[in-house]
Amino acid sequence: EAGGAADILRYADMALYRAKAQGRNRLSLFDPALEAAVLSQASLLQDLRQAQPRQQLALHAQPIVDQTGRVRSQEMLLRWHHPSRGIVPPTQFIPLAEQHGLILDIGNWVLQQTCALLADWQCDPSRCRWTAAVNVSVRQLRDAGFVDSVRQALQDTGAPAHRLRLELTESTLLTDVDETIAKMAELRAMGVHFALDDFGTGYSSLSYLRRLPLDELKIDRSFVADVTDDPNDGVIARTIISLANSLGLSAVAEGVETAEQFAFLKALGCDAFQGYYFGRPEPVLSAEATA
Ligand code: C2E
Ligand code: MG
Ligand code: MG
Repeated sequence: EAGGAADILRYADMALYRAKAQGRNRLSLFDPALEAAVLSQASLLQDLRQAQPRQQLALHAQPIVDQTGRVRSQEMLLRWHHPSRGIVPPTQFIPLAEQHGLILDIGNWVLQQTCALLADWQCDPSRCRWTAAVNVSVRQLRDAGFVDSVRQALQDTGAPAHRLRLELTESTLLTDVDETIAKMAELRAMGVHFALDDFGTGYSSLSYLRRLPLDELKIDRSFVADVTDDPNDGVIARTIISLANSLGLSAVAEGVETAEQFAFLKALGCDAFQGYYFGRPEPVLSAEATA
């Protein structure tokens, strides 16, 4: 039952925490739903700390195809097999991992697994030309050891650097632009390529876009969903594709679910396509298992 001094302090603390999480200078009132949310986040976090040591994380891969429908790349997407909650999607645990610094270890594991897989594909004529795309959080890129951890993963596995694509989001580019550019340049010199993910949803400045050593713009799936029906989305897709073309970058459409969307985007000159129409993210066998 609520009412004791200790409880009231605990409730105030939760409300305070929420106010801070929402950007400070806010009024936040305690309610029972907040308590439930805080407790479930706390228990999720506790479990997440164990997820990697207990080998509950797995990578799924989703194909990215060219204009003829041939696979040219796979995007690696994390899944968490929770012992009681089932599969937890990355949208639920990545933000938590970022907030509490767990993303560094997890991200490193993802890099190592991906590079092992890339090295594996080199022995398979049907897959040796595929690239592998990995999502990288702001928190990882900001870390002083990031460039070294990519270099290490490539060295440890013997993966070809020029087949590794790192996907960054626009939020990555908001602060410390010069430092970001320096790190990207260092990785680019090793052969690593870069894609800007979820393009169109953030606040990219066009001048930064020109300065960054990018190779691809990925059109966010929110614009692809209604691209054939909503004239505004059609215009946005067309604009992103021509922006990519004029900057010498490839345009990749995310979330392509129908033949009509594929045809429409192809006619606009989009270079590559990803979505349920071509394949869902599927588990990948670990490199050790396929070796
Ligand atoms: P993202 O990088 O933009 O990945 C694409 C997301 O769109 C994936 O969601 C994919 O399953 C989903 N998707 C692909 N095709 C379709 C489609 O045709 N229709 C619809 N409705 N959805 C489609 P997922 O796997 O849930 O991942 C969500 C986000 O979590 C990713 O967005 C990425 O930002 C993040 N994420 C996933 N794995 C990692 C990782 O290893 N590290 C980091 N830092 N973030 C990751
Ligand atoms: Mg991505
Ligand atoms: Mg995306």
